[in-house]
Amino acid sequence: MRTAALVYAGSQRPEALAPLAGGKSAYERCLAFAAGLPGVERILVAEGALPLPESPHPRAKRESWTLDSILEEIGRLGEGLDAVFFFWADQPFLDPGLAARMLDNFRRYRAEYGYADGFPGGLATEILSPRIVPALRSLAASLPPEPERDSLFSALQKDINAFDVETEISPKDLRDLRLSLACDSKRDLLLVERLAEAGVGDEESALRIIPERLDLLRSLPAFVQVQVVGGCLQSCKLCPYPALGARGSEGILERRDFMPRERFASLMDQVVELSGDAVIDLSLWGEPSLHPDIGGLVEEVLSRPGLSLILETAGLGWDRGLVERLAAAYGGAAAPGRLHWIVSLDAASPELYAELRGPGFEEARAFAELLIELFPKGAHVQMLRAQENEAELEAFWRGWKKKTEGVIVQKYSRFAGFLPERKVSDLSPLTRRPCWHLKRDLAVLLDGTVPLCRDCARGEILLGKAFSSARGLAEAWAAGEEFHLAQVRASLGAGAPYPAPCADCDEYYTYNA
Ligand code: SF4
Repeated sequence: MRTAALVYAGSQRPEALAPLAGGKSAYERCLAFAAGLPGVERILVAEGALPLPESPHPRAKRESWTLDSILEEIGRLGEGLDAVFFFWADQPFLDPGLAARMLDNFRRYRAEYGYADGFPGGLATEILSPRIVPALRSLAASLPPEPERDSLFSALQKDINAFDVETEISPKDLRDLRLSLACDSKRDLLLVERLAEAGVGDEESALRIIPERLDLLRSLPAFVQVQVVGGCLQSCKLCPYPALGARGSEGILERRDFMPRERFASLMDQVVELSGDAVIDLSLWGEPSLHPDIGGLVEEVLSRPGLSLILETAGLGWDRGLVERLAAAYGGAAAPGRLHWIVSLDAASPELYAELRGPGFEEARAFAELLIELFPKGAHVQMLRAQENEAELEAFWRGWKKKTEGVIVQKYSRFAGFLPERKVSDLSPLTRRPCWHLKRDLAVLLDGTVPLCRDCARGEILLGKAFSSARGLAEAWAAGEEFHLAQVRASLGAGAPYPAPCADCDEYYTYNA
């Protein structure tokens, strides 16, 4: 078959150009992979804003690429050829043998699109027949223009029966590990380096080594929950905080303590230093509208390019002018996808709302509707699913779905045995894996204390103090490693049970942003 390769570096991060395990960068390895592809007659590098080192291959340069411009380039590149390989140029473990096998099946079954499933991301390319490009461009028109790793497949999925698709299935299904073996962040660069040192380099070694080395998969935190206020405007029945948050004679309804902006800013500096990028979630406990400078905290997060923000609120006590100013500053193209709101409602009817959360139904509902208007892609309403509100779940879902795509049904947590069991159904996997929250999350309380996780709400295990030094957060993250390793040993059946409080927790399979 006569083929071409589009090496996509249009969304490249500097990590892809860094030497990997003391050798060639991911980008250099991708170019070498392209040169060795079967039947390859043309190689084109799609270059974006990040300047690339010299290479013998021609380039198409654009400051910003869209899904449509990628497809346009694939169409041009593939003119007169049988197939085009497409892959991102930051994946050092792309396997030539796997690509050759996929092309062979692509040819034998006269496919129009070939992809791999069940493998960790970053081992396989996609293969397209140039003749489907016009149809894909028209299907892609309804998708977000920013290229994502699964954009081509998302376009094809819109009318999948119209195409001959050939799927290469992994002999070991590793989808549940959600691995991306791409050098596109500090976090994944560290992961790739660790795996390379352990011997991963191609399909065979990845499928053999990764399931046995779950200990290597905790790299850097991606989701940081921060408590910025002590008080709440409601005392919710399904939440542990009313019982945990009392301070002397002050209950959570009276508390008005908060994290000053300068302290919060220093914490954000630590997050950037540690992870490079992350999602910040406010407020771990307490109502963020009670913070006297909540607009300043939003600015502190979103002025750091690697960070994005989720504000979790009861939807009460907000100053409309402030919310409109936030929408003007961050609601549209200025910070696309970087500011999200979750309004906790938990009920469809005012009666059940009052029973579960207290007064405020009308204000919260109106606030959610305002957010949907001001942040069409960033506003979400949430029901925490429990026995108490199961009867209203469908009404809640149907009612809000008429107004927004952003409807969340959150799993109920017992907070490791602290609250009574109220879950409606058990969705936990048959085989327990190490907890996602230990692998990806950090929780920081008002005074900087870092508990094991959000669900370790009674503080049974503390990892450290974020404000004890400029590296307090990094030290707390490092202290969590031994708890991750204990879970890895338990999950590999090495005889060790899951330690407390995790043994009594079923949040391990839930995954944050
Ligand atoms: S298993 Fe539960 S208690 Fe343990 S770290 Fe995960 S979320 Fe926290």
